[in-house]
Amino acid sequence: MTSVAFPSSLPGGPTRRGRTETDVISTIGGTPLIALDRLFDPDRFQVYGKCERFNPGGSIKDRSARSMIEQALKTGAIVPGRSTVVESTSGNLGVALAQLCNFYRVGLICVIDPKTTAQNAAIMRAYGARLELVDQPDPQTGEYLPTRLGRVRELLASVPDAYWLNQYANERNSQAHHTTMREIHEALPDRLDYLFCTAGTCGTLRGCAEFVRDHQLDVTIVAVDAVNSAIFGPPAPWERSHRRLIPGHGAAMVPPLLRAGLADRLIKVTDADCVRACRELLAQESVLAGGSSGAAIAALQSAAEWIEPGAVCVAILPDGGDRYLNTIYSDRWVREHIELSDSGRDMR
Ligand code: PMP
Repeated sequence: MTSVAFPSSLPGGPTRRGRTETDVISTIGGTPLIALDRLFDPDRFQVYGKCERFNPGGSIKDRSARSMIEQALKTGAIVPGRSTVVESTSGNLGVALAQLCNFYRVGLICVIDPKTTAQNAAIMRAYGARLELVDQPDPQTGEYLPTRLGRVRELLASVPDAYWLNQYANERNSQAHHTTMREIHEALPDRLDYLFCTAGTCGTLRGCAEFVRDHQLDVTIVAVDAVNSAIFGPPAPWERSHRRLIPGHGAAMVPPLLRAGLADRLIKVTDADCVRACRELLAQESVLAGGSSGAAIAALQSAAEWIEPGAVCVAILPDGGDRYLNTIYSDRWVREHIELSDSGRDMR
């Protein structure tokens, strides 16, 4: 018989916050850090997952959306009842913005591409967002991002009072993550050695790195990117045959938010690494996490050989797995799309 350790507190104890909230938007942030002791032996080093799925919109992008929208409202760049926010997003930011724009009575047009899942599109529509699908990738790069940005420009020229938040360059995106890192630091004030952070727009990476620098914390930041992503420089020849099907981390360009020196190390992972790690996380810890969470866990697994004994590590888990049931958690999809023997590597 397998023995199972019971959690230290039983249901009925204090809630996550232990207080009432004024509205749904004020529940953004304050997400839990969960020990991952079954996946990583705590006698070697300790790993916690920062579970961003506990945000009301289901992902880390609630923080960025709130920060960007509230700033635009404050400066008068958008006005309730009159303005329309336009953004290029294929997933979590769209859901987060749809939630925020509905709450603040601002219009929203999300420019999406065929990689956007039907479920995410349905959630955005349910909140009242209008969706604009671009179905042709950029002929030069084969990526949808350039075409999506072109459509955003057209909409800005044609829709009255339209406003582009531009998540890739908006510093309110990265500033939102000072709170992410503050929460981690407050939960682990005595010791944190490594932060594993996936990179897309680099909002999370930059916000967390700025907090670490400003508070002179001794934390090594490990950026986790996708094989064949261009964020930290042009992909090496060995990367170029890899397709990136899992959304969230990785980008076809260098995001304007990226700054030199934000990350101390870089690990690149394949889609296969993400799938394997997501499934292990589910099997061992009962945590149903999204693809980029798998990326962070896979990076930690590959770093196990150089992480010193007794170290304390945090992996940011950006969203939940419910949005990937037809991909990462579908055996059929994985059989058809993923070469499970593929693996990424530690870049420095
Ligand atoms: N993982 C998921 C699931 C995401 O939606 C995003 C945002 N694109 C990221 C990781 C990367 O976060 P950031 O944009 O802050 O770099």
